[in-house]
Amino acid sequence: MLPTGRFAPSPTGPLHFGSLVTAVASYLSARSKYGRWLVRIEDLDPPRIQAGATESILHTLKQYGFEWDGEIIFQSSPTRQAAYTEALMQLQPYSYPCYCSRKHLQQNAQQGRFGAIYADTCRSRPQIPNPQATAIRIKTPDETIGFHDLIYGDYAQQLHAEIGDFVIKRADGLWAYQLAVVVDDADQGITEVVRGADLLDNTPRQIYLQSLLGYATPHYAHIPLVLDTQGQKLSKQTYAPALPLDEHSIRHNLYQALKFLNQNPPDELRTTPMKAIWDWSIQHWSFNGLRPQQMTADLDLVQTP
Ligand code: GLU
Repeated sequence: MLPTGRFAPSPTGPLHFGSLVTAVASYLSARSKYGRWLVRIEDLDPPRIQAGATESILHTLKQYGFEWDGEIIFQSSPTRQAAYTEALMQLQPYSYPCYCSRKHLQQNAQQGRFGAIYADTCRSRPQIPNPQATAIRIKTPDETIGFHDLIYGDYAQQLHAEIGDFVIKRADGLWAYQLAVVVDDADQGITEVVRGADLLDNTPRQIYLQSLLGYATPHYAHIPLVLDTQGQKLSKQTYAPALPLDEHSIRHNLYQALKFLNQNPPDELRTTPMKAIWDWSIQHWSFNGLRPQQMTADLDLVQTP
């Protein structure tokens, strides 16, 4: 299969330097192998969507010189929603409805390393006729699920003990990220997932779902997070500034992204047209210089509007 990577932003705000770094890494990884690179808009959660964010993200990607293959997929589209429903049906033997109230969950869950661990309350509870709010959970196995990350190395979790039975369809009727991402990656033929390290601990859950659904597991590379000088992850929540779109800033920020990704871009690239930056970086891309640590970007070096 042709190497295929993807960039899957949630349209909760404009792209910032942290998202640029992830987009650059996934793009270069795919293109350096003459592979395909797809864009998927993860608009599963309407209350979190910001008006105009999708258009702004796509416009910014274009201005920064990214060229995606095929059509952009939207998780909210009827086709995708139908695919998630079909996967849910396939998962029925391994899942169960959960009637627990938020209060019950708060009072009964144990806090683990990765957040609240579900207490299995509904695992063997008889079904209630016409329940009001029903989430669907996956029964997690008493097994260790592991994988080899291209940057973080071997990574494993005891899924039942450390994560617990997790939600694949939410009580409010929305699809859970874990299910949608697995179904989309499989349907889009993704062979490599290059994304932010904040999602590293989600991967064993996704690999487990892939095994239940009979999907192949892609290669994974989690990119160290970009922190600001206060040690905070750059994110929409911390009001990371939107990427500027003038020609000088674009070249400057692409250069800084390559430096952040330890690609050792030569000084001459600072003054070359954008196309030359891309040509150089596709030719020289390597994961080798990336280490599993969070890195601080001196945002003074990053051109913001
Ligand atoms: N939509 C997620 C985000 O914007 C990325 C999900 C993924 O790459 O698996 O953080």
